[in-house]
Amino acid sequence: MDLQTQLEELRMSTQDQLQAIKAENAKELQELRVKVLGKKGSLTELLKGLKDLPKELRPVVGKQVNEVRDVLTKAFEEQSKILAEAQIQAQLESESLDVTLPGRQISIGNRHVLNQITEEIEDIFLGMGYQVVDGYEVEQDYYNFERMNLPKDHPARDMQDTFYISEDILLRTHTSPVQARTLDKHDFSKGPLKMISPGRVFRRDTDDATHSHQFHQIEGLVVGKNISMGDLKGTLELISKKMFGEDRKIRLRPSYFPFTEPSVEVDVSCFKCGGKGCNVCKKTGWIEILGAGMVHPSVLEMSGVDSEEYSGFAFGLGQERIAMLRYGINDIRGFYQGDSRFTEQFK
Ligand SMILES: [Zn+2]
Repeated sequence: MDLQTQLEELRMSTQDQLQAIKAENAKELQELRVKVLGKKGSLTELLKGLKDLPKELRPVVGKQVNEVRDVLTKAFEEQSKILAEAQIQAQLESESLDVTLPGRQISIGNRHVLNQITEEIEDIFLGMGYQVVDGYEVEQDYYNFERMNLPKDHPARDMQDTFYISEDILLRTHTSPVQARTLDKHDFSKGPLKMISPGRVFRRDTDDATHSHQFHQIEGLVVGKNISMGDLKGTLELISKKMFGEDRKIRLRPSYFPFTEPSVEVDVSCFKCGGKGCNVCKKTGWIEILGAGMVHPSVLEMSGVDSEEYSGFAFGLGQERIAMLRYGINDIRGFYQGDSRFTEQFK
């Protein structure tokens, strides 16, 4: 068989094989390309016979070799495109959407119950013209204790032992330092100071289920002219009703805090039994919800506020305690463990 016939046969058989390749065997196309057009492929082999041809025939056959190469190269490209399209088509068919299948549920998160309570209380106070002020969780001993009328040797510091970064830097035990810092800057020519400060605070851990080494607080402070205990009671009554229901009553019991004088513990009438006595109120009809009092004159003076001219009240409540009461939560650790079975209950 002469070289020209062999070339023609190679062209035809290659084209036939190309046509026969199916979409699912697309890689056979590449194998065939190497076999025919590759460096060691059939066409190259035939090319080697060129040197044995008579001189005058070589250009003619050489031209034919190039033509066959061009034709086949083009054929490979075309077939490659056809196969790729067929593959996409097959994939589309296999992935067709069954709209009758039930959809997958995407679970949507919710705000943490402590944040919900914080925001709820913030809203109440914003409505009464208070400002909401943030502060530092890492504080100076000076602002955390001394400015709250708790000098270094004061025994009441024991109740609020905390984590010390250095002798004078600590994790704050209450949000009161924010109040001292805000009072320092307040311009009384523009009216009284009315603020709340929500945030995380830290104390020595106590070995029971209702205390944790960290918890959340909202403390409030009002300082101005003629601020009285009556203003404090009215404010607390309003908060209690908004938080625990319109029928709630409050009562004040004398207490002690170094930074207020007089100081009170505030009880709210039980929202579960209405005062008859139940497990929530430990059969007393009353639930302790917060501490409060009239700002100690020394605390005002330390901020450069004249305690003869100005007076004020302060109060502090805990978001964990409110959530535990309201939702009957027994163990404070539930708030911090991030277990969605716990957090999702408060959607
Ligand atoms: Zn009760």
